[in-house]
Amino acid sequence: MPVQSAIFFETVQEIYERVFSDLRPNLSLPRVHVEFHPFTSLSSKIRLVQGELTVRISDLLKDAPAPVQEGLAYILLSKLFRQTPPRPMAEVYRRYLMRQDVCRRAEHARRQRGVKRLIHPAGRHFHLEEIFHDLNAQYFSGKLEMPLLGWSLRPSRTILGHYDSSHHAIAISRLLDQPGVPHCVVAYVLYHEMLHIKHPVDRSGSKRRVHTRDFQAEEKLFAHYAEAKAFLKTGPR
Ligand SMILES: [Zn+2]
Repeated sequence: MPVQSAIFFETVQEIYERVFSDLRPNLSLPRVHVEFHPFTSLSSKIRLVQGELTVRISDLLKDAPAPVQEGLAYILLSKLFRQTPPRPMAEVYRRYLMRQDVCRRAEHARRQRGVKRLIHPAGRHFHLEEIFHDLNAQYFSGKLEMPLLGWSLRPSRTILGHYDSSHHAIAISRLLDQPGVPHCVVAYVLYHEMLHIKHPVDRSGSKRRVHTRDFQAEEKLFAHYAEAKAFLKTGPR
């Protein structure tokens, strides 16, 4: 007959209880409630309300090994107590996030779960799809694949355009869809985002290069570059 193993592993809840006692030995232990939640990212949340500690961890971390759970527990509880987490523990967690399979799972979840919400490309004054087709023909030999394209829900003044590679989506700030904005300005902002499709982010080396030299050189090929830039300097009102 096999001998029953006497080794029991700590549950994630017990890890949080232990780390809590480690960081705050004088506080009485709250009730700890841990749940795994299908967030769109690897984010996790913690709160302490009326003696109950609630931790919501990305379900992508469900199978993470115990030292990784411990690392996250130190990070989240340190955040709760407004202190810096102990470096070695936090490192274990951060290194796990950089693992290729973990990154891939996270990317996959982002695609599957993140719903891109945009306003239809036919705006009140500008039709983004039409502008896209014109730019595609003029600057990209018609070779760019049509992304999910639309106006942003909020009329952002700081982010006029955004390309989201995981959804292959371009959002243009709704702020630009108004009569006082020249056509070439909308076209320029869209052109810039289209260049992001053509020039994927360069991850070689330690820095992420977004606007590479090639990117910038190509941006200047835009026919109304100076005019659009000048308008954006003062910005739409
Ligand atoms: Zn850019």
